[in-house]
Amino acid sequence: MSIPTTQHAVVFETNGGPLEYKQIAVPTPKPNELLINVKYSGVCHTDLHAWKGDWPLPTKLPLVGGHEGAGVVVAMGSNVQGWEIGDYAGIKWLNGSCMNCDFCERTFEPNCEKADLSGYTHDGSFQQYATADAVQAAKIPKGTDLAHVAPILCAGVTVYKALKTAKLSAGQWVALSGAGGGLGSLAIQYAKAMGYRVVAIDGGEEKGEFVKSLGAEVYVDFTKSKDIVGEIRKATGGGVHGAINVSVSEAAIDQSVQYTRSCGTVVLVGLPAGAKVTAGVFDAVVRSITIAGSYVGNRADTSEAIDFFARGLIQCRIKVVGLSELPSIYTLMEEGKILGRYVVDTSK
Ligand code: NAD
Ligand code: ZN
Repeated sequence: MSIPTTQHAVVFETNGGPLEYKQIAVPTPKPNELLINVKYSGVCHTDLHAWKGDWPLPTKLPLVGGHEGAGVVVAMGSNVQGWEIGDYAGIKWLNGSCMNCDFCERTFEPNCEKADLSGYTHDGSFQQYATADAVQAAKIPKGTDLAHVAPILCAGVTVYKALKTAKLSAGQWVALSGAGGGLGSLAIQYAKAMGYRVVAIDGGEEKGEFVKSLGAEVYVDFTKSKDIVGEIRKATGGGVHGAINVSVSEAAIDQSVQYTRSCGTVVLVGLPAGAKVTAGVFDAVVRSITIAGSYVGNRADTSEAIDFFARGLIQCRIKVVGLSELPSIYTLMEEGKILGRYVVDTSK
């Protein structure tokens, strides 16, 4: 397989600065790394946070963003085991971790202090050739549609893990705040596949129709409802058993603490800049509410999430556009106008 020396990528030099579609060098894999010819990459709201630099964690600069890359292994370092040229591989948010610390030892690799993050501390999938630690790269079954599997690599894994974190039983209610977006549209389907009943919260009629088409039983429009908490408590006979917050809204998080029923779990996933979660201590104690953070997933969560997709239980509602159009996707995302996920084709 001939590998070019240069390739197309979207690069920015400063946070919030111009997103340049240009030619850059193809990276060389380190001994532990794969070189993946990225065919498609999902565009996650995290990529927008990374470009803006609005989190208390600095990005590398200049940076190639992207962490939902699906492609083909074209080269590998001398220490790589278990991969062959031509295998399908996925680039995840967690590009690599130390594998030696207490967290890695207990399979909490995303929580490793030395975690290397695709599209954040490591050039990511908004380029045609990207490197990934062979231990953490996701195995994608041969023959999988690479455009459709791309969003599973972050959004799918993250919501699947968040649903596990809510510790629900089949038949129980889960509220998904931000249900019409990238993570939310997959969360509805994982929740259904796991046997839960879904309350979807997002804004506008189009998103309402969209989330219902994916299997949500109840839709609450945050742009219209005068009493989101009351509406959800009423529809679910006293509140949801679990709430997964994937919206980028502090207010939505606070509401979720209130519409979760006693002994339920509020899971924090979305990362609005500078946000705090406020819960009355008396209420949280007396109603025994668990508030849990959930951060992507480990290798087992990844292969399980991909397996749900491979078995046809999860449909990624995607719109495919060229990589050069990335800036316009960020504009739509900022305005909350995206249904499901945008996926970029790195060849355009
Ligand atoms: P997205 O832009 O595709 O979706 C967000 C959705 O939230 C949109 O549909 C928007 O209309 C909706 N929304 C906005 N305000 C709302 C409100 N008040 N109530 C209900 N819905 C509201 O974003 P995404 O790619 O799904 O990512 C969502 C968030 O999750 C981002 O902050 C991202 O960084 C974060 N994230 C976290 C993890 C993790 O591991 N914890 C992983 C991936 C992404
Ligand atoms: Zn992501």
